[in-house]
Amino acid sequence: PANLRLDRLLANLGYGSRREVQGLVDAGLVKLDGVVMQDADQRIAITPDLSSRMVVRGRPLDPPPGMALMLHKPLGVTCSHKEAGPLIYSLLPDRWRRRDPAISTVGRLDKETSGLILLTDDGALLHRIISPKSNVPKRYLATLDRPLKGDEAQIFASGTLMLEGEDKPLLPAELEVISPVSAHVTVHEGRYHQVRRMFAALGNHVTALHRDLVGGLDLPEDLEPGQYRLLGEADVKAIF
Ligand code: URA
Repeated sequence: PANLRLDRLLANLGYGSRREVQGLVDAGLVKLDGVVMQDADQRIAITPDLSSRMVVRGRPLDPPPGMALMLHKPLGVTCSHKEAGPLIYSLLPDRWRRRDPAISTVGRLDKETSGLILLTDDGALLHRIISPKSNVPKRYLATLDRPLKGDEAQIFASGTLMLEGEDKPLLPAELEVISPVSAHVTVHEGRYHQVRRMFAALGNHVTALHRDLVGGLDLPEDLEPGQYRLLGEADVKAIF
């Protein structure tokens, strides 16, 4: 939305019901450009810089609608409400989990996969990233149970590898050997347990899986497991 009523904006960001945010405004706790806002029905232009201009209870406004972030997913948290275990969303501030539209992961990582995952409240952006048309590469560091045989790169690149239970071969993927029992694998689609099943199809077994790259974004060295960072416009462009 290009603009929203102030009370709608704050309610959608999880600050409370329309009535509760009306109370915040009445108490003089909402400021824009240093000026106390008087009217909860005033329309606010939604721009990325709003967090640096609006202050609520003395704190910068949460990221306005149309936000995206990267998170270093730790092992053991899930991206799906259907799976047991703590949800990845529990790593975000409480209020961010009450937003409408909700923040959701861009695709999923397995519970036992770590690394770079993107989240956004922007449905159009989400679909653009996961669309096969965009062809956004995703790179994984796979640690293996058995030594590589030497033919894996060629088989992954062939575009003929079939996963068990599927009827369409995988798109070509790239493999770079790192050690006898580890490799970088870059895929251009996102099938269920894809990388694990790619190695299973060759008689190997992935013992650890970590994603370090999505499109042109890599996982920053200083982003610890469980930490996240908002994406700026340039970061979002770099995905594609
Ligand atoms: N491939 C997998 O097997 N698991 C993931 O989490 C991501 C890619």
